[in-house]
Amino acid sequence: MEKINTLVIGAGQAGLALSEHLSNNGIQHMLLERSRIAESWRTARWDSLVANGPAWHDRFPTMEFEGEPPDSFPSRDRVVKYFEDFAKQVSAPVRCGVEVTRVSKNSKGPGFVINFREVKGVSDTVSCSGVDIDSSRKVASNGNGVGEIEALHVVCATGPFQTPVIPPVLPATLEDELCVKQMHSNEYRNPQQLKKGSVLVVGAGSSGGQIADELLRSGRRVFLSVGPHERPPRSYRGRDFVWWLGVLGKWDLSTVDPDTAHVTISVSGARGGHTVDFREYAARGMNLLGMTSGYRDGVLEFADDLNDTINNGDASYLAMLDEADAYVERNALDLPLEPNARTISADPECMINPILQLNLQEENISTIIWATGYRNDFSWLECDVLDDQGKPVHSRGVSGEPGIYFLGLPWLSRRGSSFIWGVWHDAKYIADHIGTQHEYMAYHLSRQREQ
Ligand SMILES: Cc1cc2nc3c(=O)[nH]c(=O)nc-3n(C[C@H](O)[C@H](O)[C@H](O)COP(=O)(O)OP(=O)(O)OC[C@H]3O[C@@H](n4cnc5c(N)ncnc54)[C@H](O)[C@@H]3O)c2cc1C
Repeated sequence: MEKINTLVIGAGQAGLALSEHLSNNGIQHMLLERSRIAESWRTARWDSLVANGPAWHDRFPTMEFEGEPPDSFPSRDRVVKYFEDFAKQVSAPVRCGVEVTRVSKNSKGPGFVINFREVKGVSDTVSCSGVDIDSSRKVASNGNGVGEIEALHVVCATGPFQTPVIPPVLPATLEDELCVKQMHSNEYRNPQQLKKGSVLVVGAGSSGGQIADELLRSGRRVFLSVGPHERPPRSYRGRDFVWWLGVLGKWDLSTVDPDTAHVTISVSGARGGHTVDFREYAARGMNLLGMTSGYRDGVLEFADDLNDTINNGDASYLAMLDEADAYVERNALDLPLEPNARTISADPECMINPILQLNLQEENISTIIWATGYRNDFSWLECDVLDDQGKPVHSRGVSGEPGIYFLGLPWLSRRGSSFIWGVWHDAKYIADHIGTQHEYMAYHLSRQREQ
């Protein structure tokens, strides 16, 4: 059976960042990727998506977005190219088209046994990704395309957003009954993809807000079910919100405030970047609704909470301006005043007379897009590292089972952990942890040889 020191599962930004640090620490490793490098950016995002943060920020410290103005928001495809280039820059030993199906403790020795299967059709795309695979590092499967590898360390870098979640509000038969198509935001590509008719978008985080805005601009009639959110200013006093989050220490927060754990962040880099303002969306014709709460006989029901939700979002926005102003004053920074940023427009009709019920047929709703997030799926991980709900138990990515690590999860060590720039720092911590263990083992083996 092939043996390797460290096996990394997933070649998205997390796996690639880790590869750089493992190489720096001299740790032999391999990345198994069931699809292609940065596959989530290729196929689980809509066509017009741009990075939520500007090019100077949403990147690894060791590589810039070459040719991209620092304050621009790189396109989805440019982000894919960035990660392909990065894989080449660090000579990441990636094996594409190999899916890990099981990780279990090695009953015959130290470490773990990793079962995998080759995914037909994907290996051929390795050359498309432009990364040369060292043939000695190719995994050896038997004739059936399955195989096993032994590793002392296994890093699960399989993504913060794995399995799309659609709340069970509507019957799965809705399409047959009312010709209403339901899809998750990860299936949405562009307005032309949707059937003619009005669209309901559920969820007003960064995905739902941007998709609803794009549909409205394309001429669709759009309903948006808005939940608790924060909507930071895209920029204030000449600095982007990612800068403000940085200087105000908010990226580094290490624990989620239980009161705001369910509060999503709505930001957008679309069309050069703008502050998400749901009142402004409503002024342009978007129908805002409260939280989607139930369904009966063709009628969707919504909580009477839109006013509170919008007002709370506005309050979070204004609070951030206050914090920014205080920071400017405290540090005597010369940044221009921006009093207009504090203008909150009047309540739109949908806040004054909230819509609490929507008859899907009467409103000609042909598509419902659920921008309602994701959950983890570690069902292939047969080690004692998950809680009763299947969530990883770890401290900064180090699990209680020596040798099993997690990387890229939201809040792994801090708020920035699942974002491009943040995962690089977590990856260094994990690689250093593996490096330290490696040194202890090297000492043990050298003493053993002497005896
Ligand atoms: C719509 C959207 C927009 C975002 N925009 C930004 C942004 O602008 N800036 C930012 O910093 N962050 C952004 N993020 C957050 C984050 O950067 C991305 O989700 C990013 O893709 C996470 O990288 P990752 O490597 O942790 O996971 P992923 O990119 O999901 O990579 C995980 C990889 O693991 C592979 N894999 C999974 N299971 C297996 C298995 N069993 N065997 C082998 N391979 C497996 C997958 O194929 C995948 O390629 C965005 C997220 C979303 C959903």
